[in-house]
Amino acid sequence: MEKKKVEAIVIREVMYSESSKILTLLTKELGILGVISKGCRTLKSPLRGASRILSYGNFYLNYKKDGLSTLTGVDVLSSFTRISSDLSKISYASYLLELFEQVRKGNEEEEVFDLLKTFLLKMNDGLDEEALALLAEVKCLDYLGVHLETSFCCVCGSSKNIRTVSVDAGGFLCDNCYKKEKVYCDKTIKLLRMFSLVEVAQISKLEISSEVKKEISQFLESYYDKYTGLFLKSRAFLSNLKKIG
Ligand SMILES: [Zn+2]
Repeated sequence: MEKKKVEAIVIREVMYSESSKILTLLTKELGILGVISKGCRTLKSPLRGASRILSYGNFYLNYKKDGLSTLTGVDVLSSFTRISSDLSKISYASYLLELFEQVRKGNEEEEVFDLLKTFLLKMNDGLDEEALALLAEVKCLDYLGVHLETSFCCVCGSSKNIRTVSVDAGGFLCDNCYKKEKVYCDKTIKLLRMFSLVEVAQISKLEISSEVKKEISQFLESYYDKYTGLFLKSRAFLSNLKKIG
């Protein structure tokens, strides 16, 4: 066993024995990691507060490379309390945890962790959770190896007279190359471009009309289905939530 300190977010918790939990951490340095938090369900445990989903901080471990590591302490940096007290935000945050877990599994880059952290901080600051989730889906595409082309027409390379965005073509299409693809509204096209370019940490406002969110969501859902092969349980849950809403 080796002692390690990792920056991490708890993405899953499972009860274990009478008093413990097994936590899944998305760590900056080591990817996805299972740890046992012994005795954390007892009232006096110093691990109690941090051993729950959405805890973010520095986690101290007895690290086992090919097995379950043991949690020995946590410096909590945030518990995202504003998210935890809002059902809609919790649902979208759960979706982000599941999405980023899949992204990190196929990707060694530490910036995947920073990106998830930034999204949760923005959501906790009060930015619209639905718009943030759509932005996150766009940001994850490159990490998943399925780039969406929003700089120019993906058939002829022209950056002028963009007509629509196409799942089959993999991005923008210009007037000349357009055949009979579905036409998305100008705002949807502009936002997809903005989403590709923007630094998430720089955003202080994200207000998008519900019609445009719906279009972007439909486009991205088809795009994910066609190219990524990801099935995310919480996405199905969100679709149901939207139908009810
Ligand atoms: Zn073209």
